[in-house]
Amino acid sequence: VAACLARIEATEPKLRAILHLGAESALEKARAMDAAGPDPAKRLWGVPVLIKDAICVADAPTTCASKILENFVPFYDATCVEKLKAAGAILLGKANMDEFAMGSSTENSAYAVTANPWDTSRVPGGSSGGSAAAVSAGQCFAALGTDTGGSIRQPAAFCGTVGIKPTYGRVSRYGLVAYGSSLDQIGPLTRTADDAAAMLTVISGHDPRDSTSAPRPAPDFEALLAGAGDLRGLTIGLPDEYWGEGVDDEVRAGCQEAVDAAKALGATVVPVSLPHTPYAVATYYIVAMAEASSNLARFDGVRYGYRAPEAVTLEELYELSRSKGFGPEVRRRIVIGTYVLSAGYYDAYYRKAAQVRRLIRQDFLDAFAKCDVICGPTSPFAAFPIGQMSGDPLQMYLSDIFTISLNLAGLPGLSMPVGLGKDSGLPIGMQLFGPAFDEAAILRTAKVLG
Ligand code: GLN
Repeated sequence: VAACLARIEATEPKLRAILHLGAESALEKARAMDAAGPDPAKRLWGVPVLIKDAICVADAPTTCASKILENFVPFYDATCVEKLKAAGAILLGKANMDEFAMGSSTENSAYAVTANPWDTSRVPGGSSGGSAAAVSAGQCFAALGTDTGGSIRQPAAFCGTVGIKPTYGRVSRYGLVAYGSSLDQIGPLTRTADDAAAMLTVISGHDPRDSTSAPRPAPDFEALLAGAGDLRGLTIGLPDEYWGEGVDDEVRAGCQEAVDAAKALGATVVPVSLPHTPYAVATYYIVAMAEASSNLARFDGVRYGYRAPEAVTLEELYELSRSKGFGPEVRRRIVIGTYVLSAGYYDAYYRKAAQVRRLIRQDFLDAFAKCDVICGPTSPFAAFPIGQMSGDPLQMYLSDIFTISLNLAGLPGLSMPVGLGKDSGLPIGMQLFGPAFDEAAILRTAKVLG
């Protein structure tokens, strides 16, 4: 803990990955644990972790990087946080993010723009950019992120870390501030696949407080990974749609090298197709914004956070608190989301998106009939310069092309580092997708390749 805090002190002025640091209490906790001696029953005994600021930690600010939650301090722990604490992890603080997890660069935070530790003029990715930058810079050994459309995997790729989005329902969402409830999943960002397996084992499992949590026991992923040495018997599917046009050469080359390494380790590689990929961005942004507009209705200036002091009538209270409390990207999404759900447009947009979502999911089910894991780049390009896309939301949305289908399908996916780009010198991330509840397959593949 002391080493991580020293690292935080040295790197934080440039990185700004952390929104709230609980330095003193983390040290106190560590000292007390040292005095009591190690507890082998606790899988994460003494491991310093950071938590994305969308996840509730009792008595710590939880702002979602939004002004509207500026002074919000929850009185309870999210289930995943409760489980981390029970496993002996030490919480260092809360990590920066795009406001309400809306973005792909962490530039939408109301408080700070996080820098990429590999090149501080570039973004760390988003929305879990603070978590990814912190793990990559050694500020902590693991961090929790959330992934609605790539927000764990894309920042992991940009910062050279491992990041896994579990199957929908694997990890309880109780205590996570909802963005797109049918898409959101909490997952770890770590340096290695083994660390991800340890974290995932701890946070997984059925939770009666989340009605979408899957009623199945959580496997010991760490044990399932033990002894993994080669990839004999594994069939990897390469979707044409993820390897063609629009992907930077250095990204394709980095991922291709990893696929070649997998072949050398005994894997069989087959072509597969995810033909509805071109519709993924449109479908995702309709579903996600619709759900967001509904979820964010609860921030009304009455129950949580910012309340416009000048409001006189109830309507003014809503209007002023919400228009001042929410940042521009969040407001844009509430407006679009409300539009696609409104009478007369629901059938044209939301219903149609829900139908296409089904087709996107079917693509994956068909592909998994031919292979065990699916593999492709996490992002079409490496980390981009701060400011490059912040004025162009559509461009930013389009950059999510390779991560969002998986959330629409509810399946697990992982991003792992595959070296540095030949042109940019920046980390390149490769994704592995697995069938529902088979996180072990992608973790094992990542471990062997890593
Ligand atoms: N970039 C996507 C969005 O802005 C994904 C974000 C996420 O996964 N939370 O919606």
